[in-house]
Amino acid sequence: MIDLHTHTNCSDGTDSPAQLVNKALAEGLTVLALTDHDTTSGWESAQKTLRGDLSLALGAEISCLTSDGISVHMLGLLFDGAHTQMQEMLENTRDGRIPRAHKMIELLNAGGIRVSMEDVESVKPVGATLGRPHIADALVKNGVVSSRDEAFTDLLHNNSPYYVAHLAPTPEDAISMIRSAGGVAVIAHPFASHRGKVLSAADFLPLKNAGLNGIEVNHRDHNNEERNALAEIAHELDLVVTGASDYHGTGKLNSLGENHTHQAQWERLESEADQRRVIRA
Ligand code: AMP
Ligand code: ZN
Ligand code: FE
Ligand code: FE
Repeated sequence: MIDLHTHTNCSDGTDSPAQLVNKALAEGLTVLALTDHDTTSGWESAQKTLRGDLSLALGAEISCLTSDGISVHMLGLLFDGAHTQMQEMLENTRDGRIPRAHKMIELLNAGGIRVSMEDVESVKPVGATLGRPHIADALVKNGVVSSRDEAFTDLLHNNSPYYVAHLAPTPEDAISMIRSAGGVAVIAHPFASHRGKVLSAADFLPLKNAGLNGIEVNHRDHNNEERNALAEIAHELDLVVTGASDYHGTGKLNSLGENHTHQAQWERLESEADQRRVIRA
């Protein structure tokens, strides 16, 4: 089983990278990609824990914003972690998440909802990429809502009056950066419409021209119609089709391996990186 999209407590997942690798081993995964939001900080620890027959594809889920203000998530896999400009891009996004959280907290407070940056810091693992799930956890801690999911449904979703975007590269810029760092770019859950405005079919050609390698088709946030439409786009543009869990530990219902990538698709994707960067014990 090949799962190419997972999160740890280096961003908004709840397992440590070591726990995630152990879980992947226990469940018999053959390839696990580590894709925390806008950071590579879990790579070293995941690599140290690696053993057995599991292969590790190190990566990141890069937050992007189109010029129309549409939020896009780009999975970068198998890129060089020492690529300076890539690390600068990730750091700029992480930095931009701090004023964004302050603004969302101000809006929530103005709406009579009690939550502070201190509350958020107290629930966020040290060093983790700050995100809305941590604001959600602070709201749970304060008794405003009972779960992360309820926090998103009621207060933190993309169309909420409390929602604020953060600075992020365009999808084309993220793809170019991933490719110049030697990796491969797979657009994550592109038709997950319940998250807010999404791309249309015509938007994929410019991404392909920027160097996009694949489309995450099989993801729990896509219904069958959306999966079929994406599979057709992938076919027309000759892009790799992936499936993945987007596992977040106990932060979301998603279970490891619930969607997966076919071996032939993975082999093609892997061959499109500039060198063999898959890690084996
Ligand atoms: P952000 O990157 O700060 O905009 O936050 C987006 C993150 O929130 C994504 O990683 C999602 O996985 C997570 N998220 C979105 N909706 C939910 C939900 N209903 N429950 C838990 N996490 C969610
Ligand atoms: Zn997440
Ligand atoms: Fe995502
Ligand atoms: Fe994700």
